[in-house]
Amino acid sequence: MGPYVTLFVLLALLAGLTVGKAWERYKLQDGRWIDRRRALESPHYMLGLNFLVANQIDPAIEELSTAAEAAGDPLEIHLILGNLYREKGQVGRAIQEHQALLQRPHLRKLEHANVLLCLGLDYKHGGFVDRALEAFSEVVRLDPGNRYAMSNLEKLYEEQHQWPDAYAMRQKLAARDPPDQQPRHQEILAFLENEIGLEALKRGEHVQAAQRFQSAIELDAKNAPAYLNLGDVQFAQGDVVAAVSTWERLVGTTPERAYLAFTRLESAYSQMNDLSRFPTLCRRLIAASAQEWRARLALAGYLAAHGQASEGLELLFEALVINPHALALHQGIWRTLSQLKLPSSLVERYTDLAHDAIFYVDPHICVRCRYRSTELLWQCPHCHEWNTFVEERIAPAKDTEATLTS
Ligand SMILES: [Zn+2]
Repeated sequence: MGPYVTLFVLLALLAGLTVGKAWERYKLQDGRWIDRRRALESPHYMLGLNFLVANQIDPAIEELSTAAEAAGDPLEIHLILGNLYREKGQVGRAIQEHQALLQRPHLRKLEHANVLLCLGLDYKHGGFVDRALEAFSEVVRLDPGNRYAMSNLEKLYEEQHQWPDAYAMRQKLAARDPPDQQPRHQEILAFLENEIGLEALKRGEHVQAAQRFQSAIELDAKNAPAYLNLGDVQFAQGDVVAAVSTWERLVGTTPERAYLAFTRLESAYSQMNDLSRFPTLCRRLIAASAQEWRARLALAGYLAAHGQASEGLELLFEALVINPHALALHQGIWRTLSQLKLPSSLVERYTDLAHDAIFYVDPHICVRCRYRSTELLWQCPHCHEWNTFVEERIAPAKDTEATLTS
C-alpha cells in the first residue's frame, strides 16, 4: 500500500462521512484505483446475475465478462466466472481463470484463500486429487475457520483411503462445533476409526486392529461394523467367549442391526454347545419389536434344521406380512413348503399373502441422496455420507404408498 492510502485515511478522518463513503467505494487494485460501485451498477452485472438465477450459464458468462472488463476486472467477478466455467465442465478454463487471479499483486489474505478455495474445487472436479489437497490445505492455513475447505479435505482423504488424515480433519471440524452437534461428529469418527482398524487388520496387526475397533465403540456405542470386526478378531484369536459377548453387545445396543451377527452367533453358540441360546435370542428380538422380520427368518431356518418346519413356516408367513419384498423370505417359504411336501392349504396361504406385493431388488436407500443399493452400506458411494441407509419397506398390498422405516 502506497502513500495514497495514508492520504485517503487522513482525508476520511478529516472530512468525515462524505469522504468516508468514497473510501469504501474505491479500492486500490493492481496499483490503480477502481470504482467498486461502478461494477455493481453496470447493467451487464445485473443481467449476468439474472441469467445466473435463471440457470442460463452461457449468457451469464457473457454479461459478467463484459461487466468485469468495464469495471477494471474486479476479483469477485473473475472468481464467479471461473466457477461458471467449472460448472459448465470446462475445468481447464476455470483453472486458468482462477490461477490468473493468484498472480495479482496485493491480494489480501482472505482474497487469497477464496481464490485457492475455488481453484481447489476446480482441481477436485478435474480429478487432480493431489493439487486439490494442496489447495484446500493452503486455504485452511490462511483461513483456519474455513469449514468448506476442511470438509472437502476430509472427503478427499476418505476417497484416497487416507483414514488417519480424514480422522484428524473431522476432529478439527468437531472442535469448532457446539455440544449438541458432537454426537454426529462422534458417529463419523467411529466409522473412520473402524476403517483404520480394518487397515491394521489387512496388515495382519490384530492387536492394533482390536484397539481401533474398541475405540470406535467407545466413540459411538451404536457403531455396528466395529462390533462385528472386533468379534471377528477375537474369534480368529480363538477367544470364542469374548467374540460372542462382543456380538451380543451389538444385539443389545442396536437391535435393528442384530441380524448382521446372526450367522456368527449361531455358529459360535453351536461351537460352545449352547444350542438353545440362538432360538432364545431370536425369540427375545421378536418379542421386543413387532416389525422384526429377520429374527423370524433366522429362527425359522433354525427350526427347519431341527425338525420343526411347520412352526418355522408360521414365522415366515408372519415375516412376509411385515416385509413382502424380502426375497430371502420367499426362498425360505418355498424351501420349507417343499420340505413339507407342498400341502395345498399352505401353498394357497402363501400365494394369498404374496398376492399383489411389490418387489424391489434394491431395498436399501440413502436418506440423503436417495441412492439405492441391494445391500446395507455404511458410507454412501454417491453422496459419501456416513450411515445414511435405511431399508425401504413396502407395506402389504392394501397400502399404495411406499413407506420408509429406519
Ligand atoms: Zn447418498
